[in-house]
Amino acid sequence: MGEGVARFWREIPQRYNFIGNKCGSCKRIFFPPRESCPYCRRKSMGKMKDIKLNGKGEIVTYTIIHVSSEDFEEQVPYPIAIIKLDEGPQITAQIVDCNIDDVKIGMKVESTFRKIRQDGSTGAIYYGYKFKKVIEQ
Ligand SMILES: [Zn+2]
Repeated sequence: MGEGVARFWREIPQRYNFIGNKCGSCKRIFFPPRESCPYCRRKSMGKMKDIKLNGKGEIVTYTIIHVSSEDFEEQVPYPIAIIKLDEGPQITAQIVDCNIDDVKIGMKVESTFRKIRQDGSTGAIYYGYKFKKVIEQ
């Protein structure tokens, strides 16, 4: 229990704040952050700059997972989507809090910090980002 809680708090700043980085020469944005820009290679060494992403984007494509590993068994079926973030990077994440039938390509989504899984033997809980539909005001 103590170990799980300590890990949880250590990992919050990076994951929850959605920190990516930006290449100083080609301006491409990466999430998760990269050591160096794969497009500019050596040219951009030392020019990667951390930036905070807004954690919002839209679904590019998705798939519904019906069969899962033991750790995720209680959650199936669930949608996994490729999401294009507003700043440009594409990431893969689980969509939560909506009916599977509601998930659509082009749907606006925003990040939410959730329990990813609980280790059955140690009880450790892992957290990370998932995405949910943006509710239009
Ligand atoms: Zn670059």
